Order: sequence, then structure tokens, then C-alpha cells
Amino acid sequence: MGIDPNLYELQGIEYLMLQLNVWFAVFTLDTMRYLIAATVTSLVLYKFLNAWSQSRKIQTRAASKADIRREVFFSLLTTSIYGFVAVFVIYAMSHGYLKIYENVEDHGWAYTLLSLPLLLLLHDTYFYFAHRSMHHPKLFKWFHKIHHLSRTPTPWAAYSFGPGEAFVMSAFVPFMLWAIPIHGSVLFTFVAIQIFRNAQGHSGIEFHHHKWVDSPLDVFTTTTHHDMHHQKVKGNYGLYFTWWDRILGTELPGYKDEFRRIVNQNRQEAADGAQGSMPSNS
Ligand SMILES: [Zn+2]
Ligand SMILES: [Zn+2]
Repeated sequence: MGIDPNLYELQGIEYLMLQLNVWFAVFTLDTMRYLIAATVTSLVLYKFLNAWSQSRKIQTRAASKADIRREVFFSLLTTSIYGFVAVFVIYAMSHGYLKIYENVEDHGWAYTLLSLPLLLLLHDTYFYFAHRSMHHPKLFKWFHKIHHLSRTPTPWAAYSFGPGEAFVMSAFVPFMLWAIPIHGSVLFTFVAIQIFRNAQGHSGIEFHHHKWVDSPLDVFTTTTHHDMHHQKVKGNYGLYFTWWDRILGTELPGYKDEFRRIVNQNRQEAADGAQGSMPSNS
């Protein structure tokens, strides 16, 4: 797709410069995406909706500046690893090993549109099992410990992984590009959804509708779902959907009650406030 395989016939220093350019381009793109997702989530929840967000805070503990610095540092390490993996992905792409396509007609509109939810379903499944495996005591220290240094996560923790976890997380897209045809715009949308959802899941603010867990939307995770995972360092392993945790019995006990407590705390206060300000009949 759009890359001249003859470029790979360059030799020596020019070949290295080409690879460095690929790395830098993907590193920049992924870093921009991360910064945009974390900045937009932070601005919306902590600035524009701050008063409302305060009543939807999940934890009383606050993340420190050092926590945020660490989350940004490891997120940038992750995007630099994604750039490294992309060097191999783009090589494979330019040599026709991957099934990315540009013309919708190649596979039709129905397939192209359905491939996005399919990608999200498969990613959720990959994430659940990879994430749960990384919680195995023998693997945790090597793969997942850095991410759990965030006890009170912030949107900046979206990519806060150790190098091992960054490689595990980066493997999904190349594997999918090898396994099934994916349109370029579907891939772009998928990557945008996953980073925004990731930033929101670490925001510490329960912004979902107060009836969420008591409605059919309960199949989707909430901020509370992943925040509880950071508090307890176990359970609630899913990313977008709740069903793997339910099928395999890893949903944390009291998840729905905790969600209801958080979203109703301001409603209760507002009701109490309204009652307190009502003129007395006596
Ligand atoms: Zn975890
Ligand atoms: Zn997390």
C-alpha cells in the first residue's frame, strides 16, 4: 500500500535512514494520538466539566505530579516501541504480506463497515487474555508491573506500559493485518477508538450515564470497571466489553454497586440540598 518496495533496495546508511524515517513517522503519529486523547479527556473532564466531574470522582486519593510524569514517560517509551514494530510492519506491507487495502470495492462496503466492530471484538478478546496472563505471578513483574504503579490512574496512563507489555500490546495490529483484510480508514478509526477509550478508562471520573449498568449498555465497560482493576490489582480484565469477565468469573464483586454509589453520590447530595433549601411549612 503506497510504499515502493524498491526503496528497500537502498544500501547501507541510506537503508538505515529509511528505517529511521519510518520509525520516527510512526512514533510521531502514535505520540500525537496519545497526547490528543489524553489532553482532550483531561480538558473535558477536569476543566470544562470540572464541577460535575468532582461529584463523579471514583477515588478520594489523587494522583501526584510524579505519577503523571511517570505515566507520560512510559507512554512515550511505548510509542517509541510501536514505531520500532511499525518498521517491520511497513516492510511486510510494502512486500505484500499484509492484507491492508485502499479500495472499498476490493471487499465491499458491508465487509468494510463490519470489519470495525469485528476488530473491536477481537481486540477485546486479545486484550482480555493477554492482560489476564500478564497478571500471572511469574509474568507480572516482567510485563505489567509498570502499568500498575498507577494506583489512581489518569488519562496519561493510557500507554503507561513496561517494554514487555508494549510489545505484547503492539502485536495485535500486525497479526490482524496478516489474518484479515482491513481498509486503511478502518484501521485508523480502530486505533483512534482504542486510544480514546483507554484514556477515558483511566480518567478516574465515572462519566457514563447513571443507568448504564442497569441497561443493555452494561455489555460495555465503564471507568469504574477499569479503575477498580487498578485499585485491587486483579479482576475486571476486559477493555471494551464486560462479557469475558462475566463468562470466566473474573468480574470484581460489587462492581455494579460501586458504579451506582459513584454516579448517585451527587444525585443524593443534590436531592439533600434541594430538600434543605425547601421552605418549611411549620
Ligand atoms: Zn492489570
Ligand atoms: Zn489500566
